[in-house]
Amino acid sequence: MARIGFLGLGNMGLPMARNLLNVGHSLAGFDLVPAAQEAAAAAGVSVVAAPADVLSDAEAVVTMLPAGEHVRSVYAGDGGLLAQAAPGTLFLDCSTIDVATSRDVHGEAAARGHDMIDAPVSGGVAGAEAGTLTFMVGGEGKAFERAKPLLEIMGRNIVHAGGAGNGQAAKICNNMILGISMIAVSEAFALGQKLGLDPKAFFDISSAASGSCWAMLNHNPVPGIVETSAANRDYQPGFAAAMMHKDLKLSQAAASHAGAATPLGAEAAALYTIFVNAGNGGLDYSAIIKMIQGNADK
Ligand code: NAD
Repeated sequence: MARIGFLGLGNMGLPMARNLLNVGHSLAGFDLVPAAQEAAAAAGVSVVAAPADVLSDAEAVVTMLPAGEHVRSVYAGDGGLLAQAAPGTLFLDCSTIDVATSRDVHGEAAARGHDMIDAPVSGGVAGAEAGTLTFMVGGEGKAFERAKPLLEIMGRNIVHAGGAGNGQAAKICNNMILGISMIAVSEAFALGQKLGLDPKAFFDISSAASGSCWAMLNHNPVPGIVETSAANRDYQPGFAAAMMHKDLKLSQAAASHAGAATPLGAEAAALYTIFVNAGNGGLDYSAIIKMIQGNADK
């Protein structure tokens, strides 16, 4: 069993760390927030006083941090993890961050003789708790093979998407499809209702026809149609609108950087900005139908 460092023991990080502990790995962990430190200590993580302290005897270090700026500040520069770690340490950044920062950090890891993967996840807190996350992995084949046994403890589907940053690229491209398609489904169901269509009858038709898509089938925004949908729980997430907003903004930053035209992605990002700025970030992302129907405040 290995000694593993873990930084970022929040909603996702703590249950992921717990799954590593459960199979017998020993974990040294760090988080900035005292409540997260206490919860981690109670779970059996040996909580250390500073980020670099997780490195002592660590074969691998997992990070699960909010955004690119946190990842850069933890990893990069002379005071960062990459400078302080023993050469050959394996780094797994599971945070969802911008592709450009991810590739910069990969570059520094390689220059300092470490193996690194970016491995953003889907599956949410429930998937983290159950150890059923999907990991979308970018990095060299050798780093991927080293990381795979750890990823298999925390997740069920482990996909190597290619070189540095490609895990992040896969995650934001997938979620751009999801955001756009949720808005399309919401518009169609709202229009159908105005035209006098019963939503369930429309679902029975469209879900078996060419309008069918994952958002319609699994996260249908109209209550009472699909059992798994957050619409049946007053739009409690699920996948929070604030998270969708974050991922859509990342997709637009990447599109701008790469010179790619994503007009529908830009429109989806703008609609989620309006929705989240109106105080709805904590609702499930499917609740955007309420704004489209014109009754977001009801
Ligand atoms: P969170 O805010 O609950 O946890 C992040 C933790 O990182 C916090 O406890 C924070 O204190 C800690 N942190 C911040 N800076 C730090 C630093 N310098 N050193 C150590 N710890 C630091 O967020 P989360 O929901 O766990 O999400 C983590 C990542 O996973 C994000 O990138 C998010 O986009 C992604 N993600 C989340 C979900 C979800 O459903 N929550 C799903 C998929 C992906």
